[in-house]
Amino acid sequence: MYNLLTPGPTKVRQNVLLARAQEAPNADLDPAFYALYHDTCEKYSAFLHTKNPSFLLSGEGILGLEAAVASLTEPGDRVLVLDNGIYGKGFADFVTLYGGTPVLLTCDMHRAIEPAALRTYLEADHGFKYATLVHCDTPSGMLNDIHALCPILKEYGLLTVVDSVSGMFGNRVDVEAAGIDILCGGSQKALSCPPGLTMVTVSPAAFAVMQARRTPVASFYCNLLAYKDYWENQWFPYTMPSSDINGFARALDNVLEDADIFQRHARIASAVRGAVTDAGLSLFGENGYSNTVTVINVPEGLRDAAILERMLKVHGILIAGCFDVLAHKVLRIGHMGEGCNAADMLAVLAALDETLTHLGRPLRCSLPEAFRARLASA
Ligand SMILES: *Cc1c(COP(=O)(O)O)cnc(C)c1O
Repeated sequence: MYNLLTPGPTKVRQNVLLARAQEAPNADLDPAFYALYHDTCEKYSAFLHTKNPSFLLSGEGILGLEAAVASLTEPGDRVLVLDNGIYGKGFADFVTLYGGTPVLLTCDMHRAIEPAALRTYLEADHGFKYATLVHCDTPSGMLNDIHALCPILKEYGLLTVVDSVSGMFGNRVDVEAAGIDILCGGSQKALSCPPGLTMVTVSPAAFAVMQARRTPVASFYCNLLAYKDYWENQWFPYTMPSSDINGFARALDNVLEDADIFQRHARIASAVRGAVTDAGLSLFGENGYSNTVTVINVPEGLRDAAILERMLKVHGILIAGCFDVLAHKVLRIGHMGEGCNAADMLAVLAALDETLTHLGRPLRCSLPEAFRARLASA
């Protein structure tokens, strides 16, 4: 197996793999399974600083985003879509699919959304049922300050839907302080579980809006109301993937045992960015850097595919290129979850250094040495 250092899926610790190999109970009938599910969801909510209930849905991150939109949107609803990246803009497609009218507030992809710009926008128009925004827009590595943006949206009476699939566990999320009505996460990013689960955390206000709908939710699988009372009723809307839940529970405990998790993500991310710029490469973003991923412009004259191929074939390391409007333009190094450590970053930077030099683009200084120096001086 190659060294997996993409911005998700991420590598999985052995104790999580082993937890997934336990015997499978009857997840519909076994009270012990309900208790494990419930306990795991409560721990997860507590980690996010909220008493709002969380639910683990069987499906990867996209299911959480679609479920939030499907459950809130009725035909004709106006929805504000904060867009400074590919996932940010992508919410508009779900809104349209469920009969809503997305209104995009499009900002520069290279910069985090300015709270002042949002406020100015809302002063002129705030007739929206809810707003969507992305915490870390992974293709560009852009981190939006949800703790500044969501309170402004709440001031204007909008519910908030936040995609922190690749942000959480590497960047702090405080659901209560921010005022997040629906928070979406995914198992395969900084939590370091295999893909397969999405986590959705729902406020009482969001549930109240769902319950007051004039029309039914136009989906069974994406209807969050179907989960709302599973614990009281000991009844899931469909059979839960017990192996995925076992792995998730173990991975969450790994995170809870890791007191240094946010400081380490910040320290490693900052040293990677520092090394990249010291060596004469350029970052995609101008500000708003996520602790979970570093996004580097493909050096002029080189092809992303050639770099990625040599990284994998010669060095046994998988990093990512990109897609959509950023296809072939950037390289992405994931430093989230299990991949967020100095040894892996030294390996990936040494490999990138050799690869670029081999392809005719020598660097200003050694990438791994610059990384070491940055870490030491942090
Ligand atoms: C990974 C990710 C998702 C989920 O998409 P996948 O298809 O599971 O990769 C959603 N939002 C963001 C910001 C992500 O990084």
